[in-house]
Amino acid sequence: MDLPEIHTVASPRVRDELPPWTAASAWLAGGTWLFSEPQPGLRTLVDLANMGWPALEPSAAGLRIGATCTIAALEAFAAPADWRAAPLFAGCCRALLGSFKIAAVATVGGNVCLSLPAAPMLALTVALDGVARVWRPDGTERLVPMAGFTTGPQRTVLAPGELLRCIDLPIAALQRRGAMRQASLTAHGRSAALLVATADANSFALTITASTARPVHLAWPAAPKREALDANIAGFPPELWYDDVHGAPAWRRHMTRRLAAELHEELLG
Ligand SMILES: Cc1cc2nc3c(=O)[nH]c(=O)nc-3n(C[C@H](O)[C@H](O)[C@H](O)COP(=O)(O)OP(=O)(O)OC[C@H]3O[C@@H](n4cnc5c(N)ncnc54)[C@H](O)[C@@H]3O)c2cc1C
Repeated sequence: MDLPEIHTVASPRVRDELPPWTAASAWLAGGTWLFSEPQPGLRTLVDLANMGWPALEPSAAGLRIGATCTIAALEAFAAPADWRAAPLFAGCCRALLGSFKIAAVATVGGNVCLSLPAAPMLALTVALDGVARVWRPDGTERLVPMAGFTTGPQRTVLAPGELLRCIDLPIAALQRRGAMRQASLTAHGRSAALLVATADANSFALTITASTARPVHLAWPAAPKREALDANIAGFPPELWYDDVHGAPAWRRHMTRRLAAELHEELLG
């Protein structure tokens, strides 16, 4: 939709060209959410498209995902053969409710910064021990583990004017085995539960999203018994279960326990 209250669109190419931040500013990435509903109070968009950040930078240390990398580009990425968790990339990209048109312009950074509970890039980057590199308005930067990046529905640790530059996935996480499960109320509905598990010889981790108001990352140094995993999830405080038109909290809790048991069986059974 048109955003008639916007009177300035800045197109910086380097960090020094980022305009001063105001309460009426917003970063513009793919714009698939920004232009999907009214944005009262916004006057300035700072378009990130010309910053020239590389989309995907694989290295011996892991994978750097530029904030402006599109979800389609991540889905198409051909990972090295020993990155056993790599099938999660395409799986999580396809968990975005939306056509190929949305995936072609929606960015990884926009998805995690919007931080809807059903954000599949959150599920992926939390599960793979991602670390966000955040540019501060004063010219410095800080690192934030993705497990603590989102604090609630559409709430993150980003302060006004802070910009997500990239997310680094470490090689150790990429080399773990991975599996995921998704549940929706309808065949092509928005995720009501989206779980990603990873494991290696010594450990097991489970990331729960969409059914909870924020991502929950559980990790065990050794393979947990299924009963222990289930008891942990059953003990979540009631307010942690998300409630919206895409699923009632009790159903989301039920599906989360069921899908967690399936992932335990798949990776450890
Ligand atoms: C049909 C349809 C289906 C959708 N389905 C889903 C779904 O299943 N799950 C889901 O999570 N979302 C969904 N969305 C919402 C949205 O399209 C996605 O979350 C998308 O990934 C957002 O990315 P974007 O690049 O378009 O972000 P934008 O719309 O450009 O920005 C989103 C927000 O993030 C901020 N932002 C963007 N980049 C940065 C950055 N680098 N640093 C700091 N802040 C930044 C923006 O200021 C804005 O507040 C859907 C949208 C549509 C239209």
